[in-house]
Amino acid sequence: MTEAVRFVMLYPREQIQATVAALARDITRDYAGKNPLVIGVLKGSFVFLADLTRRLEFPLEIEFVRLSSYGRGTSSSGKVTVVHGMRASVKGRHVLVVEDIVDTGLSITHLLESLRVKKPASLRLCCLLDKPARRRVPVEIHYRGFTVPDRFLVGYGLDHAEQYRNLPDICYLEETRGQTTSV
Ligand code: 5GP
Ligand code: MG
Repeated sequence: MTEAVRFVMLYPREQIQATVAALARDITRDYAGKNPLVIGVLKGSFVFLADLTRRLEFPLEIEFVRLSSYGRGTSSSGKVTVVHGMRASVKGRHVLVVEDIVDTGLSITHLLESLRVKKPASLRLCCLLDKPARRRVPVEIHYRGFTVPDRFLVGYGLDHAEQYRNLPDICYLEETRGQTTSV
């Protein structure tokens, strides 16, 4: 019997774009005129952030942070460190964090806490994908694209071993037995 992995399309590009447009409308309603600081979490949010911010037609500033997890496992270790910090000042700014996916919630909680102590005027989270099945800490998500099943997703910025971030659609990887399809 052969074992292989195949991609199963979950959200095609047209559906993603419609959802990004809806998020941009909500964010425009809430942030136009506030010159927000939009912070993207690398690497996974880079495609989403680029599409989202190009639909925000008002002044804003863009920053990036990169997080790392240490200890056993990866994102579920609970020990998260900001590797690349920001130059922009957060104090008194309206800060909107843009994340690809919230899974256990540990990484984004750490980032939000580290931003909150810098005293922003407001602090909100926009995530494209919310995977609540494995949540370990409650996370308040102000702008949410899709609530997703407990699958490992790739594409539209999301990777598997650093591959597939450039896929325009969001897929999940499925192991198949006795089939010949492979990636
Ligand atoms: P959390 O700390 O919420 O468990 O982890 C969030 C991070 O784990 C995401 O920003 C992402 O980098 C990674 N992650 C969680 N679920 C998935 C998934 O289904 N696919 C991919 N490619 N990364 C994921
Ligand atoms: Mg991420």
